[in-house]
Amino acid sequence: MAIYLLNCFTCNARWPPQMRTGLLCLLVETNLGLVLVDTGLGLQDYSHPTWFTQFFRIITRMPFDEKEAAIFQLAGMGFKPEDVRHVVLTHMHFDHCGGLPDFPHARVHVHQREYEAFTNGPQSFKELAYIPRNIALVADWACYESTGENWFDFDAIQLPGFDPQIWLIPLFGHSKGHCGVAIQTQAGWHFHCGDAGVDINRNIAPDWLIGAALGPHWPRIREFALSHTEVTLTASHMYQDFFFNDV
Ligand SMILES: [Zn+2]
Repeated sequence: MAIYLLNCFTCNARWPPQMRTGLLCLLVETNLGLVLVDTGLGLQDYSHPTWFTQFFRIITRMPFDEKEAAIFQLAGMGFKPEDVRHVVLTHMHFDHCGGLPDFPHARVHVHQREYEAFTNGPQSFKELAYIPRNIALVADWACYESTGENWFDFDAIQLPGFDPQIWLIPLFGHSKGHCGVAIQTQAGWHFHCGDAGVDINRNIAPDWLIGAALGPHWPRIREFALSHTEVTLTASHMYQDFFFNDV
C-alpha cells in the first residue's frame, strides 16, 4: 500500500523570499480504495477564483497553475476521479478543501467541530478562509467526535475499517476542529500534522510565531517526532524541495 506525496498548491511567501512552500496532499492506497488527505485547490478555484483567493494572490506569490490540482495529478498517475473513495480533511480552509467538488464520489471525513465551524459561517478573519461553495457537491459526510482513544499519547480517533490504519489526531488551534492524520506504514507511521506544524527540517520561524499562526501544538509534535524514529512527520506547507525527494 503506497502513500503518494502531492503538491496541490504552491504558495510562496513574499517575505522571507526563501520561504517557498507547497501544500502537501497524501494519496493513500487502502483496502477501501484511494484516500486523499486534503485536496489543495480545485478546478473552480482556477476558473472562478473567490475574492479570498485573489487576496492571497496579492499577499503571496503563487504560480496559480491549475495543473497543480489533485484531479490533474491523479489523471497523470492513471487514476480516475471516482477512484478517490474517501477524502480526509485536516481542516476546511480554502487551500485544504477547494478540490472537494472534483471528487463528488468521495465520503468526506472531518472532525465534527471543524464541520460545525465551517457551516456556522465566519466568526473571525481566519474563518473567511471557509468558502461555502467548496462543500456543495459533498453527498456523504463522516464527522467525528473524540472517543477517548489514543495514538501514542495523543488523543485520537481511528477511522473505521481502513487497512492501513488511519487516525485523526485532534490538534485544535489553527482552526476550531483542526486535526492531524496518522497513517500506518510498513516502517511505522506517517504523521501528517497539517497546519499544526511546519517542515521540521527547513523551519526558519520562531516558536512564538508558529504558535500565533498554527496553534499551540508544534513544540510537542516536534519533540514527539524527534524521539520516534519510526514516525515520518510532515506538515501541510512543506518546502518545495520536499516534493522532489522521497521520505
Ligand atoms: Zn489553514
